Amino acid sequence: MAESLLITGASQLLTLRGSGPRRGSSLSHLDLIEDGALLVRDGVISAVGTRGQVEALPGARSAEKLDLGGRVALPGFVDSHTHLVHAASRAEEYELKIQGASYEEIARKGGGILNSVKKLRAATAEELKKRANVALHQFAAHGTTTVEAKSGYGLDVASELKILKLHKELEAEQQPEIVSTFLGAHVVPEEFRKKADGAKRYIQLLEENLLPAVAERKLAEFCDVFCDRGAFNVQESKRVLQTGRQWGLAPRMHAEQLSRTGATRLAVLLRAASCDHLEHVNASDIRALAKSNTVATLLPGCDFHLGLKKYAPARGLIDGGAFVALATDYNPGTSPTLSMPMILSLACTQLRMTPAEAIAAATINAAYALRREKRIGSLEVGKQADLAVFEVADYREIPYYFGVNHCWMTLKRGRVIHAAQDSRN
Ligand SMILES: [Zn+2]
Repeated sequence: MAESLLITGASQLLTLRGSGPRRGSSLSHLDLIEDGALLVRDGVISAVGTRGQVEALPGARSAEKLDLGGRVALPGFVDSHTHLVHAASRAEEYELKIQGASYEEIARKGGGILNSVKKLRAATAEELKKRANVALHQFAAHGTTTVEAKSGYGLDVASELKILKLHKELEAEQQPEIVSTFLGAHVVPEEFRKKADGAKRYIQLLEENLLPAVAERKLAEFCDVFCDRGAFNVQESKRVLQTGRQWGLAPRMHAEQLSRTGATRLAVLLRAASCDHLEHVNASDIRALAKSNTVATLLPGCDFHLGLKKYAPARGLIDGGAFVALATDYNPGTSPTLSMPMILSLACTQLRMTPAEAIAAATINAAYALRREKRIGSLEVGKQADLAVFEVADYREIPYYFGVNHCWMTLKRGRVIHAAQDSRN
């Protein structure tokens, strides 16, 4: 028999129904229903409307009931950029950075990404899984129901596969949904740096060994490249992404974070699903993005954690007509947060996005950045019942409060994956 669930008592139900991903002035359209309700069948939404409308439907009476008690409900957050699997924090570098060392100085001393690589290679799959599981519970506890996860701290065949296999295992355990991305081109690993043509040889390893191994085992959906000063240049990035595409992996990119390299232009040219960071984009990059379907994913947690003054030009991107999404960039070096509400707070105060724009960027547009906009990111008939419920009276209070978690309940495919203490009795 089909399992039905009737959800009522949402003082504000933010559906984000309608036109799919949003650009320009439509980014602020939330399609809010007061006293909203949902009917869910086998984890899929079968009706959305006011309480009166939904309760009157056949099937509503016999359904199991969930009363949200006047709280605010919205689609579960889609975190479209994380480095989920890593071995340890880099708190020691945090202290060095506060004392004035730059990200690149730390990288030159063997810190930075290479520090995480060393620790990941030494860690067992069990240790990594335990840490990732703790993180996934926290993602769910902050209202996130889908998490993109990148490899890129392994940088050799065995270690990259160790990470990507964990993505699969964690996905099977039905917490937040995981979308797996291969980021073999994160940086050139230590053992290749000592060689004169190290970058070239590492790219060869990517093309001849790593990408085939990942694709044959179907361990990733996307291929990502860190295209920036100190990582890979535009030509190298293009080669890796094109090879990835030949293996069936759709491209996405880290672009213009530390400097402007032309990565955004490449992302648009390759029809990448997203290009992420974008602190250093210029007006012509914005125009190119506005004409494309490549999502501009902004990661303000990174600039906040590094104490940088220069955030991505969100207003220019939105007003110019680009698809804009928000993500945590959860990672141990530059953005150790898994709180999407905190990212919304930063988007409002630092990127000058309105609360409505920030919510759309973290749900439907982020779903589009993962090419899942037909299944998640809004509350509409036929979509997964992925829901975040907040202990607030008005949706604007979600970014308004910061540093506190007001997520009361999170549902994935109609199943509760997080419940605050007071909702359990
Ligand atoms: Zn990243």
